[in-house]
Amino acid sequence: MLDSLRTGLQNAVKKLLGTDIVDEAAIKEFVKDLQRALIQADVNVKLVLTVTENVQKRALEEKPPAGLDRKNQIVKILYDELDRLLGGDQELKLDKAKQSVVVMLGIQGSGKTTSVGKLSRFYAKKGFKVGVVAADTFRPGAVTQLKTIAGVVGVEVYSEDGEKDSVKIAEHGTKFFKEAGKSLIIVDTAGRHKEEQGLLDEMSKIYSKVKPDLNLLVIDGTIGQQAFSQAAAFHKASPVGGIVVTKLDGAAKGGGALAAVGATGAKVYFIGTGERVDDLEEFSATRFVGRLLGMGDLKALLDMARNLETQVDDKAVQRIMTGRLTMDDFLFQFEQVNKMGSLKKILDMIPGASGSMKTEDLEKAEKNMKIWKSIIQAMTAEERAAPEKLNAPRVKRIAAGSGRTEKDVRELITRYRQTKSLMKSGKGREMRQFLRRAGAGGQGPGG
Ligand code: GDP
Ligand code: MG
Repeated sequence: MLDSLRTGLQNAVKKLLGTDIVDEAAIKEFVKDLQRALIQADVNVKLVLTVTENVQKRALEEKPPAGLDRKNQIVKILYDELDRLLGGDQELKLDKAKQSVVVMLGIQGSGKTTSVGKLSRFYAKKGFKVGVVAADTFRPGAVTQLKTIAGVVGVEVYSEDGEKDSVKIAEHGTKFFKEAGKSLIIVDTAGRHKEEQGLLDEMSKIYSKVKPDLNLLVIDGTIGQQAFSQAAAFHKASPVGGIVVTKLDGAAKGGGALAAVGATGAKVYFIGTGERVDDLEEFSATRFVGRLLGMGDLKALLDMARNLETQVDDKAVQRIMTGRLTMDDFLFQFEQVNKMGSLKKILDMIPGASGSMKTEDLEKAEKNMKIWKSIIQAMTAEERAAPEKLNAPRVKRIAAGSGRTEKDVRELITRYRQTKSLMKSGKGREMRQFLRRAGAGGQGPGG
């Protein structure tokens, strides 16, 4: 999906990450690369300039937060700005315990009927009882098309042979399914209109009769930045509206369409990524941009880093960094890692860092952490502060108290000693860097 945009953005990022010195010239070149990628995706020129000017300004002026080096900080800025361009995060909440009515609107061929099928499948899977209303009386074969799609998904269709008034069918169908106890009723409409005004008129007619909980405007993603006027008019007219952008699979202009909708302030709730009933995704700008930039969930990483920053005990970090660590510090050091979730996951989130550590090693470290934690908890405060006091009888007592073996306890002591001497020596640099990256130490911008 959006392959050329993704390739363009990722190449720009790769080039930046591969640069030796990130100076003004490098930042400006990065910004040029971004502009090219966005304009190729049919993002409106004004929007492109806004985004890239923000990136440039922030990249030149802002200091990296603790835990991020300068290059990754610039990538993070790009991430923020693209996230904002696409309208941030917004989630559609439908309640299974209620009876929600959703009316689909959009010009002919935009993908309404297909989206009805996709949404039916999406919500049926979540346990909603779905009914769909065939209120497209305009297009020959429209009812048959909807019945076929609904058949694939296995949801009931309401239609009326011979009735030409789509508003009436919408009204009857909604009533029928409400009485039948459905929790989600989706109304497919004709949308024969070429222009916005016609669409909005139809919307207001259906609205006054059906009183939907949600109007969903379906926009064809292949129209690129032209999506702006449709989305803007709709957003202004509909207090309960959201948007589905379809055909993002292979649509070279899809990025432009998404940006255009984002710029209107309208909410994109779903995107269509193919012709099959499963080709629907809930839209989250954050996740979407993460995927575009190919770095997993950078935001989650940053949130975790920030979270750690507030919890870190500076004195403990100082002791660890200078090799005067206690058993508690030793445990603390591993817990920092634990708190951030799986180490591997974290490394995967840092561009360029994944692959620098073996999976088996990481898994072993995480397993050890659990064992060591239980052992350290079985120690007295005195033993934790001065682990050199751990003689054979104490080891025996601790093993029994923690339910671990004496061998486990001795291994912990060995690893503690190794860590201590490692931290004292120059080789502790990597761990110190890691801790600093994780937001610990308060030593200002790292890397
Ligand atoms: P409607 O007139 O608004 O009801 O549009 P339809 O649902 O009939 O869709 C029009 C055409 O677009 C059909 O050929 C669909 O298969 C196709 N279509 C709809 N959504 C998507 C999508 O997300 N990706 C692709 N590739 N095609 C789609
Ligand atoms: Mg249709």
